[in-house]
Amino acid sequence: MIEYKSKENIAKMRAAGRVVARSLRIMSESIVPGKTSPADLDALAARIVAEAGGVPSFLNYRGFPANTCISVNNVVVHGIPTATPLEEGDIVSLDMGVELDGWHADGAWTYPVGTVSQDAKRLLNVTREALFQGISKAKVGNRIGDIAHAVQKYVESNGYSVVRDLVGHGIGRHLHEEPSSVPNFGRAGEGELIKSGLTICIEPMVNQGTYKVVTLPDKWTLVTEDGKLSAHFEHAIAITRDGVEILTVE
Ligand code: MG
Repeated sequence: MIEYKSKENIAKMRAAGRVVARSLRIMSESIVPGKTSPADLDALAARIVAEAGGVPSFLNYRGFPANTCISVNNVVVHGIPTATPLEEGDIVSLDMGVELDGWHADGAWTYPVGTVSQDAKRLLNVTREALFQGISKAKVGNRIGDIAHAVQKYVESNGYSVVRDLVGHGIGRHLHEEPSSVPNFGRAGEGELIKSGLTICIEPMVNQGTYKVVTLPDKWTLVTEDGKLSAHFEHAIAITRDGVEILTVE
């Protein structure tokens, strides 16, 4: 059952979301090409979250072994942070959740490492804009399918594909809760009706080539089947009669 949140609940999620946004920004600003590794960024995130009095939501979630998911180049999502330094020209997706005072927020952003190719830059721009196209349909009285369709339409009209195997989700007292699926593909007018107090994560995962993905033997890391690049942007949002609010901002 979906738990529709009160103003007080949303205020707590906003506080958690601020820590997510702050962590992602500081992590991204600390990247030195050829030097900083995903493991360094993961340790930095742990410090920032602890200083804010929160707990990283991903750590030990279904056995996940790190504080953050860090996914480089052809890794779509759920990359386990490694000690291999990021290199000039890479794209790196930083994805993390924070639990603060019993409430979760979850966000992701894909960053260029130093100077990246025009193709990579375009992929990042299209994926970020796809997220905002989805958010623009997040209104009381619309349906989840309206969000899904807007994301898919924008991505495919730009010549890219949306990952099918993973979707956005409800969020609140739990990292993942009802509605259990906020897809990045589908038909307008279908799916759950959006009512005031709905809190969800919209998170397009966009591939340069095929939408097909493969799970590596570590059982977490998801890569593109064709080895091409993938980007991921995610915001946690609250939808009320007053409109939509992005919770994962500073
Ligand atoms: Mg998420």
